[in-house]
Amino acid sequence: MDRYEQVIELAKRRGFLWNSFELYGGTAGFYDYGPLGSTLKRRIEQIWREIYVIQEGFMEIECPTIGIEEVFIASGHVGGFSDPLCECKNCGEAFRADHLIKHITEEADGLSDEELDKIIAQNSVKCPECGGDLGNTYEFNLMFKTQIGPGTGRKGYMRPETAQGMFVDFLRLARYYRDKLPFGATQIGKSYRNEISPRQGVIRLREFTQAEAEIFIDPKSKSHPNFQRFKDTAINLYSDAAQDIGKSEIMTVKDAVDNGIIAHEFLAYQVALVNHFLQRVGIAHDKLRFRQHRKDEMAHYAIDCWDAEILTDRFGWVEVVGIADRTDYDLSAHANMSKTELSIFIEYEQPKMVEKFVVKPNMEKMGPMFKGKAKIVAEALKALTAEELEKEEIKVIAGGEEFTVPREMVEFAQETIKISGETIVPHVIEPSFGIDRILYSVMEHAYDEEMVPAKESEEEAEDEARIVLRFKKEVAPVKVAVLPLLTRQELIEPSKEIANKLRNKGLLAAYDDSGAIGRRYRRNDEIGTPYCITIDYDTLQDNTVTIRDRDSMQQVRVPIEKIEDVLYELVHTDRKFESAGKPL
Ligand code: AMP
Repeated sequence: MDRYEQVIELAKRRGFLWNSFELYGGTAGFYDYGPLGSTLKRRIEQIWREIYVIQEGFMEIECPTIGIEEVFIASGHVGGFSDPLCECKNCGEAFRADHLIKHITEEADGLSDEELDKIIAQNSVKCPECGGDLGNTYEFNLMFKTQIGPGTGRKGYMRPETAQGMFVDFLRLARYYRDKLPFGATQIGKSYRNEISPRQGVIRLREFTQAEAEIFIDPKSKSHPNFQRFKDTAINLYSDAAQDIGKSEIMTVKDAVDNGIIAHEFLAYQVALVNHFLQRVGIAHDKLRFRQHRKDEMAHYAIDCWDAEILTDRFGWVEVVGIADRTDYDLSAHANMSKTELSIFIEYEQPKMVEKFVVKPNMEKMGPMFKGKAKIVAEALKALTAEELEKEEIKVIAGGEEFTVPREMVEFAQETIKISGETIVPHVIEPSFGIDRILYSVMEHAYDEEMVPAKESEEEAEDEARIVLRFKKEVAPVKVAVLPLLTRQELIEPSKEIANKLRNKGLLAAYDDSGAIGRRYRRNDEIGTPYCITIDYDTLQDNTVTIRDRDSMQQVRVPIEKIEDVLYELVHTDRKFESAGKPL
C-alpha cells in the first residue's frame, strides 16, 4: 500500500471522503465529502477567507455556476479550453493523447494533435487497456454544455473556473470599491471540467472546488504596499532557469524580486501569501515549491506565472495553486465582446500641467462659408500642425473633399492645460486554488504511523501501531472527544455535561462511550482530534478530568470547572499543553 492508498482507505473508513454514486457503481472524477471531510474542507476554506477576505480585504461574491455562451466565448474557453483526446478503435476507451506518450517525451504538453499522432505511430503506442490500435487525436472541449430554458433555449456551460464572475462584474465591483485601485474580489465555489479520463482519484475531478481571487491593479504601479511583511520570508522557488538544472532554490522574496526571478513585487507578495496559507493549513514546508511557467508554457498574454506544487507520494509534484499576472487580457476580452468599456479613471495625486498645441477654428466665420460641412472641416483643422496652419492658404481634406480655409478663420496656440487623471484598463493578478487537492495533501502530510508502547491502553498486552493524523489544531475537524472511562450512568452524565459546555463555547466536541478507552483514543488519533477528555471515578471524588494530547500522548489532570475555557485556549491559542488549566 502506498501513502495514497493508506490515506484513501482511512478517509473512506472514517467518513472523510469516498467515491460518489457508490450505490450505482460510481463514476470517475466525482467524490463525496463525508461528515469529517466536509468539516475539514470548511475549516480550510475558512482559513482562506480569513486571509483573503478579512486580512487582504478582497470581498467574496457569489455568481451562478452556469454561465451564458458569450462569457466563455470572450474568455477563450469555447475556442480553446480543450485537451487532446485519443480513442481506442477496438474497445472505445478514451485517453489523453499527451498522457499516453509521457514516458517518451517530457514535452508532451505543448504538442499539436498531428505531432502527438506522429509520436504515437512512430513508437507503436497501443491502447493501455486492450492493446488495440488508437484512432487519430482530436481536441475535446472540457466544458460541460447545457441548455438554459426549454426548447431551443439559450446555450450555457457549467463554469470551468470561478474567475469569470469577477471579470463580468468588474464595473459593479469598481463602483463598490469607489474606483480605487488596487481592489480584489474572491469566490469559493464549484467548477466543472469534463476531464477525459480522470485516473488520479481526488487529484483530478470533474467537479471540484476552487477558491480564486482576482486582484485589479494599476499597470504602472506593481509594487505592493505591504511588501515589507514578506520580504525576508524564504521560499522554495523552482524558476525557469532552475528547471534547466533540475534543482529548486530557497531564497527570500526580496531577493527573488531584486534578481528579476519573480516579475514584480505585487506578484511576489501573492506567491508569499500562498506559501503562508499552505503552511498554515498544514502542508509540510519541505514538500512545497513554487514552479515558474516556462516561456513556451505560459499563456501568451501573461507576464509571469507560478504554480504552487506539493510533493505527494504517488503523484509526485502536484499543482495546487496557480498564481499569474494576466495583464489586461480578461477585461479587454470582455470589453470587446460586450462592447462596454471596462476601465477605471485614476485621478492623479497632483493634477498634471501639460503643454498642448490647441487649434481653435472660428465657427462664426466658418459657418456661413462652409455651411453643413463646417463641422468636419473644423475637425480636420484640429489635426494640422503649427507649420501647416501658418501657410497663406490652409488646405484640408474632409469627407473626401479638399477645402481651402482663409487664415483668419483659425487661431492656434501652445497652451498649458490641467489634467486631473487618466483612464486605464487594470491588470489582473490571480491566485487560483484547488481546494480538493489541498485537502488531500493536508491529509497525506498529516498522516503518520508509529509504534506505541502497550501501557497507553491497559487492554493491549503488546506494543501496537497507531495511525495518527497530525492535523494542525486549526484544521482538525473534531477539536475534542469526551470519553467516560466506563459506560456507567454516574460517568456518562458528567461527560455529557462537559461535551455540552464545550459545544456552547463553539468547539466541535464528540462524545464517545463505546469500546475500551484505548480503542477510543486510537479512533480519535485516526481522525486527528487534538485532545481527549476522560472522565473517571476520581472525577466524582475531586472534580478533575484527564486531558490527553494527540501528538505526545501526554496526559494532564485539570479541574472540571471552566474546562471549556481550558480547551478553548488549547485549541485557539499557543498555550502549551503541559500548562493547561494552570494560571499563566
Ligand atoms: P487552472 O485554472 O487549470 O490553473 O486550475 C487552478 C487550480 O484548480 C489548479 O491549481 C488545481 O488545484 C485546481 N484544478 C484544476 N483542475 C482540476 C481538476 N480536474 N480536479 C481538481 N482540481 C483541479
